[in-house]
Amino acid sequence: MTMKSADPTLFPAKDADRIRISGRPSWCSARMWASVTEGMTRGRGAGGRIRRRVGVTWSRAERKILRKRKPVPVSVWAEKHRVLTMSALPGLWRNEVTPYLPGIMDAAMLPYIREVTLCKTPQTGGSECAHNIMGYCIDRAPGPGMYIYPDESTARENSTDRVLPMIQSSPRLSTYFTGQSRDEASFRINLQHMPIYFAWARSASRLANKPIKYAIADEIDKEGFDAGAREAHPLDLIDKRFTTYRSTYKFIKISTPTLETGNIWQALNGCDAVFDYHAACPVCGQRQVMRFSGIKWEGGSDARPSEIEARRLAWYECEHCTARWDDELRNQAVRAGVWMSRDMPVSLFAYLDRFRPSRIGFHLPAWNSYFVTLSECAGAFLRGLQDIVKMQDFQNAYCALPWKETVMKKDEDDVLSHKTGLPAGVVPSEAVALTCGIDVQQNGFWFLVKSWTRDMASHRVQYGYLTTWADVETLVFNTRYPVEASPDTTMGIWRAAIDTGGGKDPSDDWSKTEEIYTWLRQHGRGVVFGVKGTSNPQVKKVNPRVIDKMARGNRPIPGGITLYFLDTAQFKEAFFWRLGIAPGEPQAITLHADTGIDYARQVLAEQKQRDKKGKVSWVQIRRDNHLLDCEIYSDACADPEWMPSLSFLCETRQRPGRRVRSKGVR
Ligand SMILES: [Zn+2]
Repeated sequence: MTMKSADPTLFPAKDADRIRISGRPSWCSARMWASVTEGMTRGRGAGGRIRRRVGVTWSRAERKILRKRKPVPVSVWAEKHRVLTMSALPGLWRNEVTPYLPGIMDAAMLPYIREVTLCKTPQTGGSECAHNIMGYCIDRAPGPGMYIYPDESTARENSTDRVLPMIQSSPRLSTYFTGQSRDEASFRINLQHMPIYFAWARSASRLANKPIKYAIADEIDKEGFDAGAREAHPLDLIDKRFTTYRSTYKFIKISTPTLETGNIWQALNGCDAVFDYHAACPVCGQRQVMRFSGIKWEGGSDARPSEIEARRLAWYECEHCTARWDDELRNQAVRAGVWMSRDMPVSLFAYLDRFRPSRIGFHLPAWNSYFVTLSECAGAFLRGLQDIVKMQDFQNAYCALPWKETVMKKDEDDVLSHKTGLPAGVVPSEAVALTCGIDVQQNGFWFLVKSWTRDMASHRVQYGYLTTWADVETLVFNTRYPVEASPDTTMGIWRAAIDTGGGKDPSDDWSKTEEIYTWLRQHGRGVVFGVKGTSNPQVKKVNPRVIDKMARGNRPIPGGITLYFLDTAQFKEAFFWRLGIAPGEPQAITLHADTGIDYARQVLAEQKQRDKKGKVSWVQIRRDNHLLDCEIYSDACADPEWMPSLSFLCETRQRPGRRVRSKGVR
């Protein structure tokens, strides 16, 4: 903007819009004010009432912004000007596809709202909602904007694949381009009247020096947004950027939750008000927050997830009239829904109007989404029953809830309460396979044999101590356990895992490790496998790797050996989680009738502890923890990640290790 003297002869009227100003506005310096008004005040006497006339010329872009336009909500603007390119439903934005988003977008732009937290699941359209807000700001309320992603590559991808196409594809937004290609770089888009920056959580320098009016932080529970060892938290760094725009800034935080200590759950808890989406039953019209307990299917926990999903067998049951909603009725129910306050029976905008909070949060589980079927939710839950990692995924990515870490406050009595009436050495009738874990000592072997059912409930059949390799061979290859209530059937061990030792610790006995390798190569027979615990977190719990050299001394291992590296922390977590499951449920743990206090003491020999930085580790609190190790090795044998997995064998209807004794000829 340029200012000129009020003399009408200096600039032609067609180039300028005239504005009458009766006092010096804050944006005009005293010196400039004096120079523009000098000619007019002369000769009229100081202190006289003078109407000051100031001429101003505006650039084209400025005029476009300042043009008087009827204020519209973001959702209305989006249906007119937002064009989706990378979407299952390309074309103009339609609010009816994601009926819960208009409320969030429109609330975000209310003048007293500073922060919006959206705790959501994938495929609910959360990121698109943020793009709509940014698009609206470009067109209606410009100011420097910034997107912040967990890492550099995500930032680059979103810039080139999402945000730039969003501006290009919209006839309205594309008029704001400068026409200079250098203004459309990966980490910065310069529009005629505002820049949009792209940063990632760990690019502290990028975050440190730019005043920002609009910030959108996406996937803030992902690695990168954790405080880690750095001095300042990335979200605090972003917050400092708003100083210039203290009373007008907008901070949008979006993520799928992970843990209760994660950023999004913390942000949601820090909100002045939280809102839940209430769907309206198409049959009785009553509103309700949809919950997972309302999703029903035949067969309960025995149902097969793939079948439920393929045939779309799940439905939602209205909590008021018990009407069954299929996916289409669910979509109708969501379209007729509204956001309501979590604390009182008041709808979103009525609440905002009354209390004018500055930080608001929204909670959005997957079953509200047009893009997620009810059967998919049921399937994810059923898979979670088989595997604790998948249960965590279900909790995070479907329920939009944080995963509660197992707090280990169990005593020996708790552990021994899992004892059953079945004596040691007898396999329960529902068992489909036996696995065995062996922990090698200097002068012997601790071992534990457990049976598994199809739904991963496990029963400890036998545990104890062996002294020689010959004993180990007898246990693993020649022991047949009788099966409860079927006198003619016995079961042998299907898979066993033996600890191979040998770590970084200088005191580790590498001659023992070599001895185990040699034994495995000669006697493993595809039944006994070498395992090694790793303390570093791994993506998978079970990672097979072929080793062809000794880690110490670098001597070659003839023919090589496959070792299974185990993320022991994940297995310990799962073990203690299962200890909390009631007998009879999937994944429950049971013990034989003769289990002693020694077993309970050993499995409780380690405790989960959290250090100051929030890092969780398992700390040994008692000397003997061998049976806990045996628990983990035998659990690994049955884990879905150890191929071929036990569940795979069950699907193909084999019963590994089960044999019917020949009755002989009478
Ligand atoms: Zn109903």
